[in-house]
Amino acid sequence: MRLLLVEDDEILADGISKGLRQSGFAVDHVASGIDADQALSSNSFDLLILDLGLPGLDGLEVLRRLRARKQLLPVLVLTARDRLEDRVAGLDFGADDYLTKPFDLPELEARVRALMRRGRQAADVEVVYGPLRFDTVGRRVTANDQAIELSARELAVLEVLLQRGGSVVSKEQLIEHMYGWDEEVSHNAMEVNVHRLRKKLEPAGVNIRTIRGLGYLLETKP
Ligand code: CA
Repeated sequence: MRLLLVEDDEILADGISKGLRQSGFAVDHVASGIDADQALSSNSFDLLILDLGLPGLDGLEVLRRLRARKQLLPVLVLTARDRLEDRVAGLDFGADDYLTKPFDLPELEARVRALMRRGRQAADVEVVYGPLRFDTVGRRVTANDQAIELSARELAVLEVLLQRGGSVVSKEQLIEHMYGWDEEVSHNAMEVNVHRLRKKLEPAGVNIRTIRGLGYLLETKP
């Protein structure tokens, strides 16, 4: 799950990004409307968290352009302005939910999860592979009805492998999907996460095979 956060208050943006990353989401952050418009035009995100009061292009215009491009991702609007006309305009422009500042981080995360569930078919939320069941919104994995405890990073690795079910995922693809732009990630760190995940999946009979020079392949053991 990849989120774009558009917020010009750096301290608030930092807090939101950290919280969501700890919950296992990849978060990219931009601080202006122009950057948001560019990022949305050229990347694919699962959800947008959008502040309305932004320098340059304001949030409502970012939203209007997004919907004009027929991009349907769910949008959660953040605003200090809780005036009725802002809410109405935002909804007219295609926002899915609102949060008025100040808010608590757990409430933001709850809204994000609710929007992701609403935006997807039930079948999309849960990915099943062999004995594994992955609730992509609740960020929980079970094998044969037993919970497997995975870190946020391990969950992200598994999610990418599952999305490409049955095909090889390159190391670059893994890194790209696991981390936001402003996180420095070494191949080494990524490999450590793959290694840990492999050990945790082993008892369930699911293997992550290393394909030399190509990447990784998820497979069930015969
Ligand atoms: Ca602002």
